[in-house]
Amino acid sequence: MMDTQLKQLARDLKGDLYYDNRMRILYATDASAYREMPLAVAMPRIVEDIKKLIAFARTEKTSLIPRTAGTSLAGQVVGKGIVVDVSKHFTQILELNKTDGWVRVQPGVIRDELNIFLKPHGLFFGPETSTANRAMMGGMVGNNSCGSNSIVYRSTREHLLEVKVLLSDGSEAEFKTISPDDFHAKCDGETLEANVYKTVRKLLSNYDNQVEIRKEFPKKSVERRNTGYAIDLLLETAPFTAGGEDFNFCKLIAGSEGTLAFITEIKLNVVPLPPKEAGLLCVHFNTIDEALRANLIALKYRPGASELIDHYILECTKDNIEQIQNRFFVQGDPGAILVIEYTRTNRDEVIEIAKQVEAEMREAGLGYHFPLLFGDDTKKIWTLRKAGLGLLSNLPGDAKAVPVIEDTAVDVNDLPAYIRDFNEILKKYDLYSVHYAHAGSGELHLRPIINLKTVEGNRLFRTIAEEIAALVKKYNGSLSGEHGDGRLRGEFIPQMIGAKNYQLLKEIKYSWDPENIFNPNKIVDTPSMNTMLRYAPGHKTPAFKTVFRFQNQDILQHAEQCNGSGDCRKTELSGGTMCPSFMATRNERDTTRARANILREFLTNSDKMNRFDHEEIKDVMDLCISCKGCKSECPSNVDMAKLKAEFLQHYYDANGVPLRSRLIANFTASARLGALMPGMYNFMMTNKGMSKLVKKFSGFAAKRSMPTMYKTTLRSWWERHKEVKSQKSKVRSQKSEDRNQNKMMNDRGVRAEQSTVNNHLSSPKRVYLFCDEFTNYNDTEIGIKAILLLENLGYEVIIPEHTESGRAWLSKGLLREAKKIAQKNIAMLGKLVNEETPLIGIEPSAILTFRDEYVDLVNDDQLEAAKELSSHVYLIDEFITKEIAKGNISNAQFIKEHKLIKLHGHCQQKAWNALTASVNMLSLPENYRVETIPSGCCGMAGSFGYEKEHYDISMQIGELVLFPAVRKQAEDVIIAAPGTSCRHQIKDGTGRKAKHPVEILYEALAQ
Ligand SMILES: Cc1cc2nc3c(=O)[nH]c(=O)nc-3n(C[C@H](O)[C@H](O)[C@H](O)COP(=O)(O)OP(=O)(O)OC[C@H]3O[C@@H](n4cnc5c(N)ncnc54)[C@H](O)[C@@H]3O)c2cc1C
Ligand code: SF4
Ligand code: SF4
Repeated sequence: MMDTQLKQLARDLKGDLYYDNRMRILYATDASAYREMPLAVAMPRIVEDIKKLIAFARTEKTSLIPRTAGTSLAGQVVGKGIVVDVSKHFTQILELNKTDGWVRVQPGVIRDELNIFLKPHGLFFGPETSTANRAMMGGMVGNNSCGSNSIVYRSTREHLLEVKVLLSDGSEAEFKTISPDDFHAKCDGETLEANVYKTVRKLLSNYDNQVEIRKEFPKKSVERRNTGYAIDLLLETAPFTAGGEDFNFCKLIAGSEGTLAFITEIKLNVVPLPPKEAGLLCVHFNTIDEALRANLIALKYRPGASELIDHYILECTKDNIEQIQNRFFVQGDPGAILVIEYTRTNRDEVIEIAKQVEAEMREAGLGYHFPLLFGDDTKKIWTLRKAGLGLLSNLPGDAKAVPVIEDTAVDVNDLPAYIRDFNEILKKYDLYSVHYAHAGSGELHLRPIINLKTVEGNRLFRTIAEEIAALVKKYNGSLSGEHGDGRLRGEFIPQMIGAKNYQLLKEIKYSWDPENIFNPNKIVDTPSMNTMLRYAPGHKTPAFKTVFRFQNQDILQHAEQCNGSGDCRKTELSGGTMCPSFMATRNERDTTRARANILREFLTNSDKMNRFDHEEIKDVMDLCISCKGCKSECPSNVDMAKLKAEFLQHYYDANGVPLRSRLIANFTASARLGALMPGMYNFMMTNKGMSKLVKKFSGFAAKRSMPTMYKTTLRSWWERHKEVKSQKSKVRSQKSEDRNQNKMMNDRGVRAEQSTVNNHLSSPKRVYLFCDEFTNYNDTEIGIKAILLLENLGYEVIIPEHTESGRAWLSKGLLREAKKIAQKNIAMLGKLVNEETPLIGIEPSAILTFRDEYVDLVNDDQLEAAKELSSHVYLIDEFITKEIAKGNISNAQFIKEHKLIKLHGHCQQKAWNALTASVNMLSLPENYRVETIPSGCCGMAGSFGYEKEHYDISMQIGELVLFPAVRKQAEDVIIAAPGTSCRHQIKDGTGRKAKHPVEILYEALAQ
């Protein structure tokens, strides 16, 4: 029935309307624990579209849920109406007025991108959130967001000057500061706008209401107060409070969570950039209690932030390889550390302040160690602080750290006692969690670990919320300090501000929105907080038999690690790799989150025997290019490449494997054939007509150039090379062989250097080279250079017997075949390779399969061998870097020429933290300067960029950062890229030839 109307609506909009199952699933959740299937998802293009949506909602008795990045933690953007996503088309910065210090934006402008725009003007928008690289201004206003710097910059509300909105009858309205006279003038008339003014006048002029509001709302000293509509703040303005600042409805709209009006434009106050010098005073304490008392001293000296790191975080980071280096400033075994940021115009001023703070704390007997840190060290400290949350959100299994009591705020003076009481409650229920206190503003972030899939867990979710609500009321604090009420805390508002005041909120809501079309059931009239959750308590799912093992959990649990935080919505401007498809399209459906959501939904609720057999999953997975960016950058380490591969295997089990996937997976077999007649093969791939046919037959993009074969394979070159070497040592007739060798190498610009030039090793060290299929057939020249380089440096290089890497099979989801390959390689290499004689590889995507997928693929009886082998497998860049560190290779062996190298890292290499090795290796020649291009994925991603339907998006990804960065380099700058696909993509996208780092180092050998 509704389908007909939706169809008509879709036709009427300039933007898009989706009401298919797939899109509804993707918008059924946010970063909270809630889930509700919306009726549809709209992406309006113009304001007129939103008006049409409003008219539709009124006629069809449905609702609209405004949404930007969807990172809300209290279920604000979950609901059964139409989710209206303005993150795609309402992204303009409209006007900047530097003189008066304001900027006018559309709601879909990302907070950090706004600040990138403002920076050259010496300005910025102060309030921040931990999600600032994807959270948008509409959402920041909706939730009245703020962050660790709120003691200086307060919350979004304090910077919201004006808004343009659509009211619930579709009329346009503007809200800004108005004088008392104007306020009364606004009350005249019968429009909806006049009505909202009249209602607020009636309610706030009432003396009893005024008394009740002043009595029941959180203490004035609690700066962070996102409980209910901010009528307490409106009450303090003229005309209700003589001498108060002028009335502005923006105070109410900030934090109204899309329940009152649809915002189309936002005017924000902007401020001068903060002083340049920031120092972190990291005071060590024996207990949290001491730290919180010392916090009161810290606050007297105007810090930018005062944040608590508790003992639990410090413990978690002790054995974490990545975090150990960030603990450099920790002394002893502190019970808590207070990280206090002081920002001043110069370092001396910061040092002076820190001295005074230390003196006062010491006098009060608080704190035992007071390191003050600047520059890059400060980044390490913030990383350490965040680590605890990462470790928590990464918990395997059904019990998760859930947002439920994660946002309380009390007066900073009450904080020590409050946290003591808080912990008593947690102890009662046997719960514990990391304490994240924005100590400077009395805000406590804490997520207890609860299994919401069980009836008991669901009950505990509620019980703990009730108890903490009562505690917050005892301290007259705010149940929400910054995250908002949504449907999580709405139920407790009557308790927090009193039943009478709650009635006022309802009157306010329905004066704005009589037909309840704007984001219903948030803030007021919310359903029970433990209903409509992602996990129905007691719901059972079948055991999933998978080819990969998912480390102590099943595939569904791995997908469930996604908590919706939306880090995968960050854009290319924030750097990193995750998630290239979203960066290119800016569509929610192309995020890692969308992929995790769709998989979770069908694995949980499908009624098919094979729960993977759904087109919707395939659709949403389609643009995942398996770059592994999420494996390392998602705070919950969701490994979508692995999930996609497993999904594809099961999907193909039901639907058959497409011809192109077979062709690609069988790359090695076809390359072997091609290698029999490389000339013919290359002709077919490069001749215009022939290659057109080949591409058409195989489903590759006509515009894409095809890789060619080298005239020999690396393996056969090495066999000959070995022979030549042994003959030489036998007959000692070096000269003539050298000439032959030289001749062959010179054909392709490769020098046949003799080994042991400037050799630092006392005896040759043996290394095994993994002759991956890409280097063997296509990039043979790089393989030859790698061998010659290593021999020159004094290593004996052996290519052992092994089979292909399996990367092509993995990328196409043919996991059972990949598994056979992995097992074969482990069997062939397991006994050979050890720390003394490691296995090194040239192509990152191939060699890293040993470290990554093999361990999760092989049968249990090979698991230990796979793990052991993986610990002795290195990228050649890593191996050389290690040897440099041992003193076995030095810069004396290389030329002194000056060169600038721009390095684009391979995604899988980055996911394994192995990019630094390439930088270190390339920096070895004394005058080589290496700069990494801040690119994410190149867009090629194995075969993805060859495929005809993916060519355009592949090039779009390349255009985000990589291509422009390469294009602007001078001719003499060397472009380095360890990945074979990346080099191909750079060539196709820019016409520049990129080199593997090992080639560059080989060419830098001193003669
Ligand atoms: C890991 C994590 C850390 C976080 N840290 C912080 C933090 O430090 N500080 C903080 O304050 N918050 C934090 N949050 C919460 C959240 O990120 C912020 O509230 C953020 O500002 C929301 O922005 P968004 O674009 O995702 O908004 P959304 O979630 O899309 O929307 C937020 C609200 O705004 C409304 N809205 C959006 N657009 C409009 C519009 N055009 N008209 C009317 N209403 C609209 C929505 O209906 C919704 O009620 C965190 C969340 C996560 C997951
Ligand atoms: S995939 Fe990771 S980064 Fe993206 S929303 Fe889920 S948890 Fe966050
Ligand atoms: S593997 Fe890459 S493309 Fe796929 S979801 Fe993860 S970050 Fe995105």
